[in-house]
Amino acid sequence: MSDQRVEVNGYEVSTQHYVGGRRVGSEGTFEVRSPLDWDWKLADVARGDEQTARDAVSAAEQAFPAWAALSPEERADHLHRLADVIDANVERVAAVETVDMAMRLQSLRERLVHRGAENFRNYADLAAGHEERVWSSKGTENRVIRMPAGPAVIITPWNAPWMLSTWKLAPALAAGNTVVLKPAEWSPLSASILADLAEQAELPPGVLNVVQGIGEEVGAALVADPRVRRISFTGSPEAARHIGRAAAENIVPFTAELGGKGPLIVFEDADLDAAAKKAAWQYDDSGQVCLAGTRLLVHESLRDAFLERFHAHADTHVLGDSRADDTTITPMIHPDHLARVDGFVQRAREAGDTIVRGGAVHAGGGLFYEPTLIEPASNDAEIVQREVFGPVLTFQTFADESEAVRLANSTPYGLSGIVYTTSRERAERVGRAVRAGTVWVNTFLVRDLTAPFGGCGISGIGREGGDFALEFQADLQTLQILDDSTD
Ligand code: NAD
Repeated sequence: MSDQRVEVNGYEVSTQHYVGGRRVGSEGTFEVRSPLDWDWKLADVARGDEQTARDAVSAAEQAFPAWAALSPEERADHLHRLADVIDANVERVAAVETVDMAMRLQSLRERLVHRGAENFRNYADLAAGHEERVWSSKGTENRVIRMPAGPAVIITPWNAPWMLSTWKLAPALAAGNTVVLKPAEWSPLSASILADLAEQAELPPGVLNVVQGIGEEVGAALVADPRVRRISFTGSPEAARHIGRAAAENIVPFTAELGGKGPLIVFEDADLDAAAKKAAWQYDDSGQVCLAGTRLLVHESLRDAFLERFHAHADTHVLGDSRADDTTITPMIHPDHLARVDGFVQRAREAGDTIVRGGAVHAGGGLFYEPTLIEPASNDAEIVQREVFGPVLTFQTFADESEAVRLANSTPYGLSGIVYTTSRERAERVGRAVRAGTVWVNTFLVRDLTAPFGGCGISGIGREGGDFALEFQADLQTLQILDDSTD
């Protein structure tokens, strides 16, 4: 079948899969609409099935031996070339992602698309610069070797499609694995562009395959394929449970980066205005950020002063089109998600929680939800305990540090935490006490790509980032040679 392309915001995008270096279709399609205007249909995209999954894994399996046989330095050359091609295509990726997912165009142009290129450069260099651990014991030389593991499946969510695809793909490829990438069905288009860019960078056919479709269909078929040797997943705990079962069936290592319900703790010694400003900033991207600090925990002595400043900052938000420079809050991804978020808020209202701010679908039209603040009737409230994934924050006060830590650790999640304090000792003490994969003190979302990243509790399994992702993608071997037994 010849390639099928549509124009999206000024750029051509293939609506097909990319398998073994070729564009291929499926009998069925699914519709992709823009969150900026739900009447704006962007594309009918190929809806992969079990056969698509089999073909894609076959392509990855065929390409694996040659890719794995390259040295890390040779693979690094490929990945650097891909990074350069990405940097030359920032406008194209940004233009498509901003109408597909409604991420702010300015952020995509200035930071996020380049960050994809950085992911490839970082992992290329990390893998190529890796020194094997060697030591002597029991009359032998011991050496730890990272062997490429085989075809890997990468499954990403809709909320940061470009960033998360490149974040996961880079270590898999650098480690010598070939990949089948399946983006989410609500924002699948930047992954299709990534396939074009891989082809332009002359990545060998089959090293990167992109299949499109529905999670329970082609996604489930991919993770059930016994030839797959690694699964790297980001998404919801619900889908992770299904994928984990498939991984268990085939004894395949898998990482899961899942939802969050991060605390944002403001101590009495904090820079109050900085804390309130960052708290109001949690509405960014309409709260569709796994790492967001959605539970505001504020020392009781600061209650009124904090709320006053928080509202003042929240009032400056501008709801609007993701392509406009002055927009700070972009629309939500899908009408179903908007309704889901509203469901959480209306249940909270009915349960007796206090709506302090917002609490309704934005009256001005579009897929906007009013930035909402809720004071729960108790810490057991659903709105405190479950991830909403929208512009909905909760507000609670605490009397002392131990209560702050207890509340911070009182949900089943453990992805991230934010602490505001000017005391270095408290920063260390509370930082270590908060049960979360990442804790920021007096800042938020600053990331070093070599640091481990992942969640505790139902926020995930395993760690990605830096060497942690490279080791996950490898089969570690201990090679042990008897001293003086070889030349
Ligand atoms: P989701 O779990 O519904 O879907 C994620 C991906 O999994 C999609 O590509 C989907 O098609 C696929 N999928 C669904 N069911 C599947 C199955 N049975 N087998 C194989 N694949 C399947 O999540 P979502 O709604 O797209 O994303 C939002 C969630 O992702 C939130 O919970 C958010 O917190 C989380 N998230 C976590 C991180 C992190 O780094 N921890 C980052 C971003 C988003």
